[in-house]
Amino acid sequence: MSSQQPYSFFKSVEKSFDKAAKFTKWDKGILQQIKACNNILKLKFPLKRDNGEIEVIEAYRVQHSQHKTPCKGGIRFSDEVNQDEVMALAALMTYKCAIVNVPFGGGKGGIKINPKNYSVYELEKITRRYTHELVKKNFIGPGIDVPAPDYGTGEREMAWIVDTYASLKPGDIDAAGCVTGKPVSQGGVRGRREATGLGVFFGIREVCNMPDVMKDLGLEVGIKNKRVIVQGLGNVGYHTAKFFREGGAKVIAISEYEGAIMNADGLNEEEVFQHRKKTGSILNFPGATNFTNTADALEAECDILIPAALENVINGENAPRIKAKIVGEAANGPCTPEADEIFIKNGILCVPDMYLNAGGVTVSYFEWLKNLSHVRYGRMEKRFTENINTSIISEVEHLTGKPVSDQARKVILHGPEEVDLVHSGLEETMIAATREIMEIWRGNSEIPDMRTAAYVSALNKVGTSYAELGIFP
Ligand code: NAD
Repeated sequence: MSSQQPYSFFKSVEKSFDKAAKFTKWDKGILQQIKACNNILKLKFPLKRDNGEIEVIEAYRVQHSQHKTPCKGGIRFSDEVNQDEVMALAALMTYKCAIVNVPFGGGKGGIKINPKNYSVYELEKITRRYTHELVKKNFIGPGIDVPAPDYGTGEREMAWIVDTYASLKPGDIDAAGCVTGKPVSQGGVRGRREATGLGVFFGIREVCNMPDVMKDLGLEVGIKNKRVIVQGLGNVGYHTAKFFREGGAKVIAISEYEGAIMNADGLNEEEVFQHRKKTGSILNFPGATNFTNTADALEAECDILIPAALENVINGENAPRIKAKIVGEAANGPCTPEADEIFIKNGILCVPDMYLNAGGVTVSYFEWLKNLSHVRYGRMEKRFTENINTSIISEVEHLTGKPVSDQARKVILHGPEEVDLVHSGLEETMIAATREIMEIWRGNSEIPDMRTAAYVSALNKVGTSYAELGIFP
């Protein structure tokens, strides 16, 4: 809970929930069941550090809903981890999966450590012990609960998890589906690494392609030349910045915890990343100016602001100074309910986290399906499609008497690779979700903002699931 925040993260999710509940048909009982966190696991286990000292590690796994199984949600390594935060993030996962039609319940895990303070060997021991505990308590498995990366974790940790799980479940042919976000060599899917950032880009691009929405915001239709500010150059922030730049927008500022930089002509995220790797800081990047205060980057003039670091960074205190026309919540919970109210008053469109950053879980779903089907996407159809396309090109050349150009031939011939199918599945998912939420929002003038419309979409789907399960006839 920050000093500006009078209540907890979970409470703030509940507040948004209550705001939306009145636009649904569900009675109190169903709403209470949707809201509740079903299972909360709090763990303590010892770690023998490299220097021989014993440290007690605190960790969590929360399963918010089993209206669909397995549960799904990332594992966070941060010294800010606490039960309330994990519960809030698990609840957001339930709503997020429902909105993008991914058939999972919400879950989330967290280990209360700052990974920077531990050696790789210690991190491996912590991750493997955590997995062991989850197996013992039946809190992990391809049909039970499937973790993924989140803040402070990545492919490396997911590889440790799948290895530990598989070694404890010999002969389980679906063991690879116990976790997603794995390296490709360990059963991961191509396209997972960049999925959340790419999903953020697809979602915002779809909003920017809506003429009526852009007219209300006083912006030109389309993504080209939009001025974008990104907070956090981690997995999500880096890829969001990359796809915006490649899509024709200008990433004019990037902030990290040690500082922020600006260049009105646009920054290249890869160059900034390399500069940070080399110098240890984002500051003093050639051609850019440093912000005196990191937080000032959020308040700079721009069209699209992308908070992609942590929760509660835009709140009642700083929201009045936000100048962006669109705030795209790439992180989980970056804007508080007070910020939402201020955005409504100031005509700022906040595109909510619970669907905008669903790219990760969408592609995680594709990875899980790949693990259960034991076949790489594209393997069965790539060659077949290319053979058919070759015949079509020959027929067109024969009928027209003209050769198809080399460039067109390359495009037409191309049979789908795994990454093509994953990206196109993600694009379809994000476009459909954006349109569905906009339709709910625009279809009821009493719904105050896009977040409430997203919650309405989620509550309707989860509520229907419970009703159809016969729990609430
Ligand atoms: P990450 O650890 O890769 O990156 C986070 C970055 O934010 C780090 O580089 C960190 O230094 C930076 N940061 C921390 N405090 C900051 C501050 N005050 N100002 C500016 N930068 C700061 O984590 P990630 O996976 O990119 O996750 C970021 C957010 O996105 C989290 O809220 C996470 O829950 C959410 N998210 C992640 C995924 C995913 O697939 N990784 C999916 C959905 C949502």
